[in-house]
Amino acid sequence: KSFADMKFPPCIVKALQKKGIEKPSPIQMQGIPAALQGRDMIGIAFTGSGKSMVFILPIIMFSLEQEKKLPFMNNEGPYGLIIVPSRELAKQIKDNIDYICKFTEADGCPEIRTCLAIGGEPVATALQVIRKGVHIMVCTPGRLIDMLDKKMVRLDVCRYLVMDEADRMIDMGFEEDVRTIYSYFKAQRQTLLFSATMPKKIQNFARSALVKPVTVNV
Ligand code: AMP
Repeated sequence: KSFADMKFPPCIVKALQKKGIEKPSPIQMQGIPAALQGRDMIGIAFTGSGKSMVFILPIIMFSLEQEKKLPFMNNEGPYGLIIVPSRELAKQIKDNIDYICKFTEADGCPEIRTCLAIGGEPVATALQVIRKGVHIMVCTPGRLIDMLDKKMVRLDVCRYLVMDEADRMIDMGFEEDVRTIYSYFKAQRQTLLFSATMPKKIQNFARSALVKPVTVNV
């Protein structure tokens, strides 16, 4: 199966190709169709497996579809929330999303806006994007909770929750924070959890947070 077979539009296929991503990696082959079908997911995968595209591409597709149906007014969103343990990883993921969205926008698709909510970045920068309507937020737990508590952002329409490097987040003591973030969700949620390892602690956590997850292991 190619990316085109997975029903991605030619502009996305081209964006991937220009990055040297010609054919889906094993985790993408298993994970992308399941994610597009709306399944919760446990992905046991390490950095370098191509796991980021398993959540990035479905969230972009969902945002584009929504934006075509019912464009954002001010202050709406996000549709996708990606929580990661480190600022560096957050920036990397945002760059990848922006890269793909440059291509979709050049092809005439609606603009997809992504912001960072991470420590060390001015909140004002995120707020500027949120004010216009933000489709995707990439966050570290502490900063996001701070913004949620202060009602700077709401998760009323948020559809996707991604936890990347979940084992690291739990090790860093973020479990309570992630549960707090859950409590802000209103819409039906699709949860995708990625972790390099699957100790008991993560298994229990996943069992309590995910609904009939499909497990992809590569
Ligand atoms: P990730 O595991 O998502 O952090 O991706 C690691 C690196 O692999 C990134 O530089 C991606 O651009 C690259 N990559 C992702 N998917 C593929 C693919 N299907 N083929 C070749 N490279 C890929």
